[in-house]
Amino acid sequence: MLQQTQAARVVEAFDRFLRRFPNINSLARASDDAVLAGWRGLGYYRRAIQLRDAAIIIRDRFQGQVPHQVEQLRELPGIGRYTAGAIASVAFGKRAAIVDGNVRRVILRCSGRADQDVGAASRESLWNAAQVLVDASSRPGLFNEGIMELGAVVCTPASPRCDKCPIAEECIARRDGLQDEIPRPAKPAIRQTIHHHVVVVRARGQLLLERRGNQGLWRRMWQAPTIESARQLNAAGVLSRLRIPVQSLRHIESFHHRTTHRDVVFHVFHATTRAKMGKWVARASAERMPLSNPQRRILLAAAKAKKDGWALARPSPSGTLRSV
Ligand code: SF4
Repeated sequence: MLQQTQAARVVEAFDRFLRRFPNINSLARASDDAVLAGWRGLGYYRRAIQLRDAAIIIRDRFQGQVPHQVEQLRELPGIGRYTAGAIASVAFGKRAAIVDGNVRRVILRCSGRADQDVGAASRESLWNAAQVLVDASSRPGLFNEGIMELGAVVCTPASPRCDKCPIAEECIARRDGLQDEIPRPAKPAIRQTIHHHVVVVRARGQLLLERRGNQGLWRRMWQAPTIESARQLNAAGVLSRLRIPVQSLRHIESFHHRTTHRDVVFHVFHATTRAKMGKWVARASAERMPLSNPQRRILLAAAKAKKDGWALARPSPSGTLRSV
């Protein structure tokens, strides 16, 4: 939960999630919708599905016990090298290395290496250095937590507090006054812009929803019918791609949403239809369904129209929708 999500938001969700899924078996049995609803408010919903899928593997292949070894942990969905090392060392006391941004900065500065962590060879040499350190430790979990904390609190990216640093005597960057040059700043990633044309279709007091696919952003979550494209489409372009015939397509608003790697421009349309195909959902049911934050915002836009019996208030802090 703490990957990419602020601790304050996790605190609220953690207990709720554990009450709902108190053990491996209950999580392994959970449907997509149940686990996504339990993850409400945390974002990056793919993690919830991967956690449930990991629980299934732990139940079926590891007799319900979380494996202790890095290699076995890495067989689980969503568990990469870093997370496997963290679980193995912190939870099970194994001499497993971890390298995150904080550990990398401490190692590079301490050894006086300015290289960017871009190539596989450079990454591997960092992991090897971290492994040498943890191999020498009598308490690997504590050591790993300590070096991460050192990077987060003392050896910070800007203005490291070298006068407070317990390894200052060993540090080459400090000795040579290179703290500001190590590590070299990474080149900014090229961000991709995509357009989501969202058509809120209402009829008979219900809303037409569809489920997103298994890949990409907000996978397996529910949404109003959405046409994705690299360029903005006009109304005719949206109509031609919709799988349901609609009337009175009307553009309501556009807004930007930023994710880790992409800028998503949402273009919201309202429409009505006489067709009955697809999944139609009453307001009370929609409130309980897993929706991304932008799709909740779009439901709010639908509320403003106040037609056809739909009226939704702002999402509450817990992310649910309340009627007005
Ligand atoms: S001495 Fe300064 S630069 Fe070196 S590891 Fe400590 S805080 Fe970082």
